[in-house]
Amino acid sequence: MKQPYTAPTREQSWVYFNGKVCQYQDVHLGLMTHALHYGTGVFEGIRAYWSAETSQLYAFRMAEHFKRMSDNAKILRMKLPVPIEQLCEITVELLRKNAWQEDVYVRPIVFKGDEVIGVRLHDLKDSFGIYTAAMGNYVELGGLRCMVSSWRRIDDNAAPARAKITGIYVNGALAKSEALENGYDEAIFLNQDGHVCEGSAENIFIVRDGAFITPPETENILEGITRETLIELVEKEMGKKVVQRRIDRSELYIAEEVFFCGTGAQVAPVVEIDRRMIGDGKTGPMTAQLQKLYLDICKGAAPKYSAWLTPIY
Ligand code: PMP
Repeated sequence: MKQPYTAPTREQSWVYFNGKVCQYQDVHLGLMTHALHYGTGVFEGIRAYWSAETSQLYAFRMAEHFKRMSDNAKILRMKLPVPIEQLCEITVELLRKNAWQEDVYVRPIVFKGDEVIGVRLHDLKDSFGIYTAAMGNYVELGGLRCMVSSWRRIDDNAAPARAKITGIYVNGALAKSEALENGYDEAIFLNQDGHVCEGSAENIFIVRDGAFITPPETENILEGITRETLIELVEKEMGKKVVQRRIDRSELYIAEEVFFCGTGAQVAPVVEIDRRMIGDGKTGPMTAQLQKLYLDICKGAAPKYSAWLTPIY
């Protein structure tokens, strides 16, 4: 499957870096930068959706993303430079300045910016930046073919699995490339105990006997904001409870429906796993309903959930 193009245009992209708004091409990082060598950074992925009907750009759950970033930074002994409210204001300013009129991805990153050698977390200066880039679908939304990865999801005892830490993405990259190069669209991680964990950059849900099931936060999943959003939507809009429990690998094969979720992935149905068809091999009805609900909310078409959106213009 062709991967989406997500690079910003260097010459015309306004970014924020260490207290200033500047052009992407004006940010220069030294070769010795700590985070480059040791993966000592924390980042976020926030989407802003363009609505042609209302000529408006909506950032989705921006404050929640910065709250998670602040928590994750704490794990790596870093601090965000300004309070969450101000980070939201900077993001709005950047999106406006870039004059986006399409779906956009916002990528804030805080990292150990010192140019020194030495594996540690303490006594290092933080750098902080935000860039924005056009982004369509991160994965296909019409049905993904997946494999259970031969790589296991990193365990929280080795490095904090719940956090969006740059270095930990080597784990996802290994699994994703393995899946793509074997002809699949996406990987499904098992954790160290052999239970279903998540995708390379997505949380996972299954539907069995009409019930939604997803692994709990203690199964080495990343604590996804889309996951939390969908749990609320399933309960409020579909009148069902989401069961959070361990999932066995073989349950994947007999589930009626399986889907991934994430800021990038949105709600992405899985129609095949390890060469077994899921349900009838098409997007399941519950997944379809949830996908529509989610995308409607993101695009500003569900006023009931407008509190989750920040209009940019
Ligand atoms: N798991 C991993 C490993 C991820 O990178 C992501 C994307 N941030 C998710 C799950 C989904 O998280 P969210 O819904 O907050 O984007």
